[in-house]
Amino acid sequence: MSTNPNFGVWRPMAENVEFNALESNSNAVMAVADTVRTTLGPKGLDKLLIDQAMNRHVSNDGVTILLSLKAIHPVARMIVEIAERQEQMVGDGTTTAVVMSAEMIKEGKRLIKELGVHPTKVAEGIENGVRLACQLLEKEAKHISTNDIELEQVVRTSLASKLDGERLANLVISALRTVGENARYNGEYDFNKSIMVLRKTSTEDQVVNGIVLERNRMDPELPVEVKNAKILIAKLDLKPVKESWIKENNKYQEILLMENDRIAKSKEIVDVMLSTGANTILIASPEVDQAVEDILVARRVFAARISIDEIEHLSRYTGAKPVRVIEDLKRSDILGTAEHIQEDEDNDIIYLEGGRGKNMVTLMVSGTTKETSLERWRAAIDGVNAAEAALNKGVVPGGGAAELHVIDKVKGLRLKGLEQVGLEVVASALESIMRQILANAGFNGLEKVMAAKASPPSYGIDINTGEAIDMWKTGIIDPLLVKTMALRASGEIAKSVLRIDRNLAAEDLSQQALSESKR
Ligand code: ADP
Ligand code: MG
Repeated sequence: MSTNPNFGVWRPMAENVEFNALESNSNAVMAVADTVRTTLGPKGLDKLLIDQAMNRHVSNDGVTILLSLKAIHPVARMIVEIAERQEQMVGDGTTTAVVMSAEMIKEGKRLIKELGVHPTKVAEGIENGVRLACQLLEKEAKHISTNDIELEQVVRTSLASKLDGERLANLVISALRTVGENARYNGEYDFNKSIMVLRKTSTEDQVVNGIVLERNRMDPELPVEVKNAKILIAKLDLKPVKESWIKENNKYQEILLMENDRIAKSKEIVDVMLSTGANTILIASPEVDQAVEDILVARRVFAARISIDEIEHLSRYTGAKPVRVIEDLKRSDILGTAEHIQEDEDNDIIYLEGGRGKNMVTLMVSGTTKETSLERWRAAIDGVNAAEAALNKGVVPGGGAAELHVIDKVKGLRLKGLEQVGLEVVASALESIMRQILANAGFNGLEKVMAAKASPPSYGIDINTGEAIDMWKTGIIDPLLVKTMALRASGEIAKSVLRIDRNLAAEDLSQQALSESKR
């Protein structure tokens, strides 16, 4: 037992069992990886998730499935974190990252246990192998622009495994084409700023050239539509007299005075706002006095509440500058414009089209149930993310072909001593993606991988016929970033898991405090 000054007493997690952390950690990782590996690729199967309230939900998405697993082994949780990180950094390729991580840990464990290679040597090999593999993939990558056919292909490949992927891909591609080069900020594409993906069960799939707010106008008496909207985005304090002041005073006369003051001030604010020439007011103020709302309604000005998060998009799209203080209302550049604003009352949404600012597209994804719309929404976002990654860093042959064809070069790297063996770990991971995609398609993965290896670079296997095909020519391509991120993350996690030789758990701290107080 060892003492750690920061955490108290640590003890082995399984004291009575013959202690074997590597074995148990690796088994835990495999168990978690097994829950998602069969979803990889277009022939991957879906999982039925059942939550504690017995709600059913079908998913093919790596992160979603992993996050639904409760109470898992702490080391296996690292795998879930890898998937989450991949999701955050690239937004696609989560299953790829998990499959590669598991493969590295499995192969690393074999080298350590069967061949007696020291974990630090294996770790060194992994580090060098991953670095070289990433460099080779970067060299292989093809750079593309928004007009290239590859942009469509990368979206189709990314959505090939998703429910209704074909239709979703068309939707995403149409959104990408509409935004086009306008999504470029300082040289990099950033679709977060130009494509909004909205989930709506009640409507049809559609691509709206503009912004869609899931909101209603402030009052049903207001007009449902505005043409040539002059838009004011208000972040002003629209509660001129605070209620607490009124409550503190109990004299009737004083309350009356304050009430009158409140109404007068509210009127004044509305007048100043309208004196700017605005005919549409979007309000993001934290507090809005009922009197302000009433006066706006009385003046028949189109007004709607918006959230702080929506300000950024609306401001970029309409050119409006959010107004924070009354004095700003005097400035001439604060109003934004939109050719058309309209509320769809049946679906509780407001469309804004023809803004004078930056281009903005809203992708509305439907679904017959909440669950399918959620799964389709996630998939659409995956598609947009894959496109962004592809435009920024380039594309490589898909189906695991790019990874497969760098293996020989990785193995050819000359390292000193046993570190060389660590390269095997990376080689296995590079092979695992194609093997898994093919196994999921019902082939003998290993046999087909051999056939692909013997074919020219960029060749992989057709998942329907089992024949070797050129992935570039067939248009099965992946963003480079999905591959390099997954490889780097897998290398990191494999190195740390393989170097753990004992799992220790902190003893109950209250117990410890008790024994100390007795002393
Ligand atoms: P991930 O969560 O890793 O993105 P997916 O289930 O989306 O997992 O599968 C992505 C993998 O499927 C990529 O390697 C991609 O190249 C591959 N893929 C997509 N379409 C095909 C196809 N027609 N043939 C072979 N591989 C494909
Ligand atoms: Mg994917």
